[in-house]
Amino acid sequence: MDIYFYNTLTKRKEIFKPIEENKVKMYSCGPTVYKDATIGNMRTNLFQDTLRRVLRYNGYELKHVMNITDVGHLVSDADEGEDKMLKSAREENKSPIEIAEHYTKLFFEDLKNLNIEKPEIVCKATDHIKEMLEMVEKIMERGFAYETSTAIYFDVSKLDEYGILSGIKLDEQKSGARVDVDPEKKNPYDFAIWIKAPENHLMKWDSPWGPSYPGWHIECSAMSTKYLGEEFDIHTGGIDLIPTHHENEIAQSKGACGKIPAHYWLHGEYLLIDGGKMSKSLGNVYLVKDIINRGYDPLVYRLFNFSCHYRGKLNFTWQGIESTSISLARLREGYQKHLRGTAEIADEIINDMENRFHQAINDDLNMPLAMSVVWEAVKYPEKSVQIARLLEKFDTVLGIKIDEVKKEENIPQEILDLVEKRKIARAEKNWAESDRLRDLISQKGYSIKDTKDGMEIQTI
Ligand code: AMP
Ligand code: ZN
Repeated sequence: MDIYFYNTLTKRKEIFKPIEENKVKMYSCGPTVYKDATIGNMRTNLFQDTLRRVLRYNGYELKHVMNITDVGHLVSDADEGEDKMLKSAREENKSPIEIAEHYTKLFFEDLKNLNIEKPEIVCKATDHIKEMLEMVEKIMERGFAYETSTAIYFDVSKLDEYGILSGIKLDEQKSGARVDVDPEKKNPYDFAIWIKAPENHLMKWDSPWGPSYPGWHIECSAMSTKYLGEEFDIHTGGIDLIPTHHENEIAQSKGACGKIPAHYWLHGEYLLIDGGKMSKSLGNVYLVKDIINRGYDPLVYRLFNFSCHYRGKLNFTWQGIESTSISLARLREGYQKHLRGTAEIADEIINDMENRFHQAINDDLNMPLAMSVVWEAVKYPEKSVQIARLLEKFDTVLGIKIDEVKKEENIPQEILDLVEKRKIARAEKNWAESDRLRDLISQKGYSIKDTKDGMEIQTI
């Protein structure tokens, strides 16, 4: 079955044709490991993971590369300010390496909690200084860059076109769209590919231009070329990366080898919180661990992401998480009922559901539509192992562990006894006693929910 992706490069949905049959080479811009990853960052990672799973569902072998930025990402995209790693190191009184190791570890814990697969290749910027330097030299030799007293700048005016992803026009920029900070820059949109290090700079390497360090964009160009070649299939990231980072990656590849590196560019939209931006000042910067600390299975957040297409804005609310938590429990219970079912269902019915699920995921990862088929299967009135098997197949894309059974053994015996007493009170229609026991259970940190199939106990 054909797969269609919305390609930011061409601004339309296109049929997917990989360079090599049956194999997909893909690059995703990874985290800058200077702070905790938020659930917003994780939305982008979930979109990329869904893409991986959809490609594999279609039989493709994957070579997926993700970088870890541990140098060169300045606090402003306009080549100004401090390196984010050094800023955190200073603020937390640690070395840049300690900062990188700490936040890289936390990042991978988040991925694990959300059942996000690790890409085949994860590569650190600081391990690829040689490759970056070689690329800078190549760009320089081909006349696409120039030296100033502070940096090596990419000269965007040397390109046939700059702004292909975001649609910006160089002529319009000249009239001063961006405030320029470096008077040595030839064009407002020129950007640093290599930066000369000040005297006491912590992270620097020898180069033909003295002790220096890489610009942020060059790491992705150098590492994608090293592991995937000058041309590969898919490049992904969040939409914020389109106008600068990805535009500059394209410029660098054109400068080094005359090619646009990826054929398909896929970008995930932002997560909003209560309809607005996530920000420290609003106190609404949430992490995966906040979801876990409120007693939810982190896969609730994974399922929550399927309520919206990856190119649409998704609005996070705790209410949304609460209702998705109920949905996840229902999906898992529904799966168990089918697993124990004995009905024989006609192959056409199973095939039709499989076909519609497959069409939905292949239509630019239409997960909300795919979920409607999942629900249809779960709620199918006749209970059958055939549907359980179908749901297991769907779960290779969903990754919500639909076959997971709730572990009641983690609930202390004292709570289970109180729940039992409450069951008796309810059977005797002693509502006052039932309410009293519910309050007591909740004081002890557990909530009980009466469902049509019985009762659910959760930590608060
Ligand atoms: P940051 O560390 O905040 O620069 O974010 C790293 C990457 O995560 C960004 O480049 C985005 O692509 C992605 N990201 C950040 N915030 C969000 C959000 N609220 N929703 C979706 N993706 C996000
Ligand atoms: Zn990148």
